[in-house]
Amino acid sequence: MYEYDYLIVGAGLYGAVMAHELNKAGKKCLVIEKRNHIAGNVYCEEIEGIRVHKYGAHIFHTSNQKVWKYMNQFAQFNHYINSPIAIYKDELYNLPFNMNTFNKMWGVKTPEQAKQMIRMQIEDSNITDPKNLEEQAISLVGKDIYEKLIKGYTQKQWGRACTELPAFIIKRLPVRFTYDNNYFNDPYQGIPMGGYTKLIQNMLGEVEVRTGVDFFEFRKTNPDISKKIIFTGMLDQYFDYKLGELEYRSVRFETEVLDCDNYQGNAVVNYTDIDVPYTRIIEHKHFEYGTQEKTVISKEYSSEWKKGMEPYYPVNDEKNTRLYEKYKELADKEKDVIFGGRLGSYRYYDMDKVVEEALNQVEKLM
Ligand code: UDP
Repeated sequence: MYEYDYLIVGAGLYGAVMAHELNKAGKKCLVIEKRNHIAGNVYCEEIEGIRVHKYGAHIFHTSNQKVWKYMNQFAQFNHYINSPIAIYKDELYNLPFNMNTFNKMWGVKTPEQAKQMIRMQIEDSNITDPKNLEEQAISLVGKDIYEKLIKGYTQKQWGRACTELPAFIIKRLPVRFTYDNNYFNDPYQGIPMGGYTKLIQNMLGEVEVRTGVDFFEFRKTNPDISKKIIFTGMLDQYFDYKLGELEYRSVRFETEVLDCDNYQGNAVVNYTDIDVPYTRIIEHKHFEYGTQEKTVISKEYSSEWKKGMEPYYPVNDEKNTRLYEKYKELADKEKDVIFGGRLGSYRYYDMDKVVEEALNQVEKLM
């Protein structure tokens, strides 16, 4: 009766894993994608022979061995380790917060001296039970680091004061009392050789994909194309915003080709001062140890999302979480539709969590 078993809306990471697994299980799938290319936000565009992370830098990292093995079926990963730099006015620090950061900030050399400084600063701030991002940050790294490396950056990224943001956002970042600049604690990390777009293409394999197709238009003319739908777009849009609009943060990228081979010496440089309008500069070639003559950089400007813009980050504050939960109730009633991915689940997911969620979902379906 139906032409396909599954209609998968969105050819990003979640959609591609679902398509791969369902296809493997003998289900007939159709993937439709609104953009004119596959790979969602991990899509890369080649400029001057350099793969440019068009929708923001993506560094794959995980502590889940199953997910790591899974991803390695579709690409080999290079040995890139993310070690961002933070620039505050004319000062430069290593991230994540570690002994290199503490040494530069306070001149301390031993872990005990660093802990002592942080303890003193926490005591001065009178925080016992951190209730928001500001209090959480001060409790983790003290006031100086909060003021110079967190406050401005976070306010720019989220467009909200740190006192209005949930504490968990900052808990994503490690704090270490060793001289280790690796941003992630995960044992597995890297960038897929050949690029993310190729990886997604390998996942999709022979599954039929139609790009440049908007689901909401498509379903008007194809209401009975499949019994089941996997939807990875915006949850509130699916329900025609009937309970109100969920908020997102969007990002605008200003990408430039520069006539030099190495602009900033690192893939990621964060600008943590509130007076610099962008949050960070990405120099794409360094993700893949590029030796091209030119370089491509992207300045990232964070902004509030409005209809027509790309939604990047869900805003998991109280108000939006409450609204999400109401939409979730509606979603649970749609028996033949599965909502997933960063947008479909309205979660601040890393890539590995998206893959994990998709694999779990497939297990439930089978
Ligand atoms: N953050 C910060 N200063 C930095 C980098 C990150 O204060 O230099 C905070 C900020 O609140 C941000 C959060 O840490 O939202 C998580 O950063 P992450 O790098 O994980 O963000 P993503 O890579 O997802 O954009």
